[in-house]
Amino acid sequence: MQFRDLKKQYQVLKPRMDAAVTQVMSDCNFISGSQVKALERRLADYVGVKHCISCANGTDALELAERAYGIGPGDAVFVPDFTFFSSAETVADLGATPVFVDVDPVSFNLCPRALESALDRVRAQGKLRPRAVVAVDLFGLPADFPALERVAKENGLLLIEDGAQGFGGRIGDRRACSFGDIATTSFFPAKPLGCYGDGGAVFTNDDDIAALIRSLCVHGKSELDKYNNLRLGMNSRLDTIQAAVLDVKLSAFEDYELKKVNAAAKMYTERLDGKLDIPVVPEGFYSSWAQYTVQLPDREKRDRVQAGLRERGIPSMIYYPKCMHQQGAFEKLLYRGDCPVSERLCGTVLSLPMHPYLTEEDADQVCGALLSLL
Ligand SMILES: *Cc1c(COP(=O)(O)O)cnc(C)c1O
Repeated sequence: MQFRDLKKQYQVLKPRMDAAVTQVMSDCNFISGSQVKALERRLADYVGVKHCISCANGTDALELAERAYGIGPGDAVFVPDFTFFSSAETVADLGATPVFVDVDPVSFNLCPRALESALDRVRAQGKLRPRAVVAVDLFGLPADFPALERVAKENGLLLIEDGAQGFGGRIGDRRACSFGDIATTSFFPAKPLGCYGDGGAVFTNDDDIAALIRSLCVHGKSELDKYNNLRLGMNSRLDTIQAAVLDVKLSAFEDYELKKVNAAAKMYTERLDGKLDIPVVPEGFYSSWAQYTVQLPDREKRDRVQAGLRERGIPSMIYYPKCMHQQGAFEKLLYRGDCPVSERLCGTVLSLPMHPYLTEEDADQVCGALLSLL
């Protein structure tokens, strides 16, 4: 059994995928080919924002968004303590200070009340300027944007949606990657919409910010002249081959994959409900199920269950074994905070195989083994 069955997906998409990739190779338009612009238009329309700017990966997408708003030394940027490293890494790379905020015990996403207390703490210390919030759509579930947008507005904070795991999710009829002031995503192969290598994108409704990011991701070039460099930038583009791959994948995602991954989550929920701690999707929210993550009572039981699953040929993953404030890279931070929920989750979470091609038989096998190990 595969944790995320990309081989099966390729078998299904093979005829169209091979044609799309071969086209790029015969045209030799490897960088900034027409497929890149066409994909950006499709992605922006799907998400429901004015601009999509593709780039080399989801980490660069975050850095580009943060650079475009001039985030830097002296700024406090509030980041969930329970996330992938990039969400905080880019903040620190720009010289700003990540301030880790605890997550909600049910959604695992940034807790708006914990954000308000973290803001109070930073203000009381008076050393940093509260500047921005990075809200992550963890495991495919959009963060609580109605509440976060309110807190951000009341406190004059920029709100950045890290939608690396969130693409395809919704709150009501608003799609993930359309929340806050600016949003980013990743096309790493295992994400809800993945390519065949690294890729990422930034989404915004702001014309000026979009133009600035287009410049930043190609060495700070001017709009019309590649060899007229107005500012320092990066080299962060999505390869034409990856755009061609994503064009095929986005069609499958829209036509059936997103529905099928939700059906797979339902299969797990039907088998596990009432028997262990399963993920909850709040009323009005829709998840793209980057992960289906259950909780075990404690670290010892979790590790024993994972070993038992492994013996039965069932892969599982621990996202994440270590929270941000415990990472060695952030050892010297002043604002490491106190994040008991995040710390507990690192010891109890276990993510099960999850992808659109998961069958009823797979769900029987995973849940049967899981329940017998409890
Ligand atoms: C994967 C991920 C990223 C980074 O994306 P890359 O494309 O791997 O650089 C950022 N934030 C979160 C929450 C992620 O899961």
